[in-house]
Amino acid sequence: MPEAVIELKDVSLTLGEGPSRVEVLRKVDLTVTAGEATGIVGPSGSGKSTLLMVLAGLERIDTGTVTIAGETLGGKSEDEIAAFRGRTIGIVFQSFHLIPNMTALENVAVPLELAGRRDAFAIAARELEAVGLGARVTHYPGELSGGEQQRVAIARALAPRPPLLIADEPTGNLDQSTGQQIADLMFSTAAERGTTLVLVTHDPALAARCARQVAMRSGRIEAEPARLVTA
Ligand code: ADP
Ligand code: MG
Repeated sequence: MPEAVIELKDVSLTLGEGPSRVEVLRKVDLTVTAGEATGIVGPSGSGKSTLLMVLAGLERIDTGTVTIAGETLGGKSEDEIAAFRGRTIGIVFQSFHLIPNMTALENVAVPLELAGRRDAFAIAARELEAVGLGARVTHYPGELSGGEQQRVAIARALAPRPPLLIADEPTGNLDQSTGQQIADLMFSTAAERGTTLVLVTHDPALAARCARQVAMRSGRIEAEPARLVTA
């Protein structure tokens, strides 16, 4: 049996107070197997981003259990969760989230330095090379195109070699051909390294490239179509 990298059981979460209270996640069950690429789709407001935040331990749940790479998050302190996230999960956002006053190289080195790697800058240089940005290491984010900034963000997310990469609309701020190149890079690198990929997307073509699609609606995961079984 392949190992489960993600196991959510009966996860519910309500956010906001008073009239703005929203049941953002309602009894969500989700198991993702190591090495699988999963696309999460669904209308705006259906809870996709919140689900990714829960996977990353960035949002605490009200009820249920979240187990990522064998670690159950519920009992951990904030410091323990931060350390867990650093070694287990890479995150890529729609709007890149690079640190503006750091060079590409420094941005990629940040999680490595946090992990105490003395060779952080050497690894960061190799990771930038791997995403095709060997000639841009001393550029600041403001000196890079959107596609280049997303490459830096992917290098930063993957540099600590996490078993899980999560991406929230990673191509949403890019034109179609740049988005396609970024998707190619994410899929090929994840496949090469055996990284489990979970991505949220509005783009049906991008979702279709994932081995599995999960649809959300109003905080719930909709029944999945039976997967094709070939004899
Ligand atoms: P998606 O990524 O699918 O567009 P989100 O996960 O961002 O959806 O949000 C799901 C729902 O939860 C939305 O209706 C949103 O308004 C609501 N929501 C998200 N964060 C909060 C919050 N901090 N307080 C109240 N409601 C929130
Ligand atoms: Mg969202």
